[in-house]
Amino acid sequence: MTTKFFQFLALALVITLSACSTKQKNEERPNILFILSDDHTSQAWGVYGGILKDVVHTPNIRKLADEGCVLNNCFCTNSICTPSRATILTGQYSHRNGIYTLSEAMEPDSMNIAKVFQKNGYQTAIIGKWHLKKEPAGFDYYCVLPGQGRYWNPVLKTKENWEYYYGGGVEHKGFSTDIIAGLTIDWIKNRDKTKPFLMMCHFKATHEPFDYPERFKNLLDGVEIPEPESLYDFGKETTGRTFEGQTMDALKDRYLENTKNPDFWAHYPGLPFSVDGLDSIAARKKTYHKFIKDYIRSGAAVDDNIGKLLDYLEKSGLAKNTVVIYTADQGYFLGEHGFFDKRLIYEESLRMPFVIRYPKEIKGGSRIDDIILNIDFPALLADYANIKKPAFIQGESFRENLKGNTPKEWRKSMYYRYWLHSVKRPGHFGIRNHRYKLAFFLRAKLKYAGSRT
Ligand code: CA
Repeated sequence: MTTKFFQFLALALVITLSACSTKQKNEERPNILFILSDDHTSQAWGVYGGILKDVVHTPNIRKLADEGCVLNNCFCTNSICTPSRATILTGQYSHRNGIYTLSEAMEPDSMNIAKVFQKNGYQTAIIGKWHLKKEPAGFDYYCVLPGQGRYWNPVLKTKENWEYYYGGGVEHKGFSTDIIAGLTIDWIKNRDKTKPFLMMCHFKATHEPFDYPERFKNLLDGVEIPEPESLYDFGKETTGRTFEGQTMDALKDRYLENTKNPDFWAHYPGLPFSVDGLDSIAARKKTYHKFIKDYIRSGAAVDDNIGKLLDYLEKSGLAKNTVVIYTADQGYFLGEHGFFDKRLIYEESLRMPFVIRYPKEIKGGSRIDDIILNIDFPALLADYANIKKPAFIQGESFRENLKGNTPKEWRKSMYYRYWLHSVKRPGHFGIRNHRYKLAFFLRAKLKYAGSRT
């Protein structure tokens, strides 16, 4: 009897200690809110300075920067949506994860950081843009756009109505940025509160066609937006470049095409658009000023919704123990070099704007110059969650860098490769250090593992 009693007591004690230890472990491990937008480039954040800093509407991004750390030299390793998203999830370069261009899918049985978090006691969720075609794996909950998704009344797909790529889903009434933030808050509210969470909130904005909700329609009315010095750069004749790039004139043609054809693939706000009677300089000027206002309005709606997320964390008492990250999948040209779009190793496209807030260990208003890459993101997240860096991740945690303690052996240069190839925007690869950049542009498409030709 006595022996049995002590056995029972010992067992009860073990169970209690084990429960305490799990509870303690979970309390120590932070939640992670990873907010990703599409193409919301550093020139439009305000916190990176530049000619737009006084005209962009970004109070919440500025608040995050005041309360956290901004990365001055964060870069993507392949400046296009699908590959950057795959790299963020896998911590691998495109040549390792096999997602080189917009054409490849993420295989559900491949490793990603959400799977690792799930196995280590986190609740995981992704809401918004996915763009990796096949069913998201590693997420306890997903609610994702098919392909690019729509700005208005977007269709979103969950486990219950999943179909490959563009198929499946249910329509949600409203503007996508508002809907994605609303669903994110709902999920956080209704989560299993015994576990920490990894929530990936991925906005469709500010991707082309740069749309915005009604409440920002009149933002910047009557405001003269500054122009980049190289806006009237008309290509190789004046620059010596060997390729044309994605010029503002291509965007002008799309505005004109959509004005004539409402079924055009992109539905731009604020049409009709006309350049009748304008010369090439005046037409480019008009295109830029429409584009930049739409883009800033689209970004204002992202910022506004980041504000809603931050307010919810504050009100629910989660703010102190939640790491908040806001970044974009790559940069974007806002008229510099006469371009829009991304893809190139040029600074505007290469740089990923990135801000992180974690009051427990990151000093507010700090900035670091270290070269950080998107392959590093999942290593950082694992580090915060007290998870040993999985072997499949090629990047490194920059948790110490964020505290101002850059490891001595931290990289001094980076490698970049853009795999899609067209005459106007050729495939290329390059390296960049803190001072120089060297790029090699291909004349023809090379064969590679993901190549279909
Ligand atoms: Ca993108």
